[in-house]
Amino acid sequence: MSAKILLVEDEPAIQELLAFNVVQCGFQAIQASDANSALAHISRELPDMILLDWMLPGTSGIELARRLRADQRTRNIPIIMLTARTDERDKVLGLESGADDYITKPFSPRELMARIRAVLRRRAPEMSDETVSVDELELSPSTHRVIAKGEQVELGPTEFRLLHFFMTHPERVYSRSQLLDQVWGDHVFVEERTVDVHIRRLRQVLEPSGLDGLVQTVRGSGYRFSRN
Ligand code: CA
Repeated sequence: MSAKILLVEDEPAIQELLAFNVVQCGFQAIQASDANSALAHISRELPDMILLDWMLPGTSGIELARRLRADQRTRNIPIIMLTARTDERDKVLGLESGADDYITKPFSPRELMARIRAVLRRRAPEMSDETVSVDELELSPSTHRVIAKGEQVELGPTEFRLLHFFMTHPERVYSRSQLLDQVWGDHVFVEERTVDVHIRRLRQVLEPSGLDGLVQTVRGSGYRFSRN
């Protein structure tokens, strides 16, 4: 699953440059030229990250970042602010408004992409395309392969996303509804027991390698991915 990146920028040339580079890197680009159209996109579907221009007509990028941080549904979306300002005080203001990182224009596309990858790695590791391994289990998002004790195993798309999420968030207990939000996405209305069905399938695939015990049921709470 490639990350969806919402680009909020009113200057068409920069908007195109951003979209071109984001798509080149294998991400999906969603384009908005002001805060209102950004909010309209966000209400339909949560992006995995926002690149947010500071100086926008109408509501500024800073104001939009504050609003997103104040809303339960949007508070965890990683945000990178884009700005022509280089003043240190502005940088502090940008970060205080809730941005995860900050980049000044003109920027090199390479630097921007490195920042995007770094923020995704930190904030949404399941969106990164880096291979993850835990114990004798290895999952590669770019080739969509899972190797369990040296043998390739076949997973359905949902089990693959579920396993990727678990492997990038080990040792924490997630409730069924948290897993639905994180793995199935928000605005998806499926019953919580759907999670159990996919957990069962995931365990079945891992069973021959003896690694099914990594997916643990925590009574009354949900599930945890753990070596112990
Ligand atoms: Ca602007």
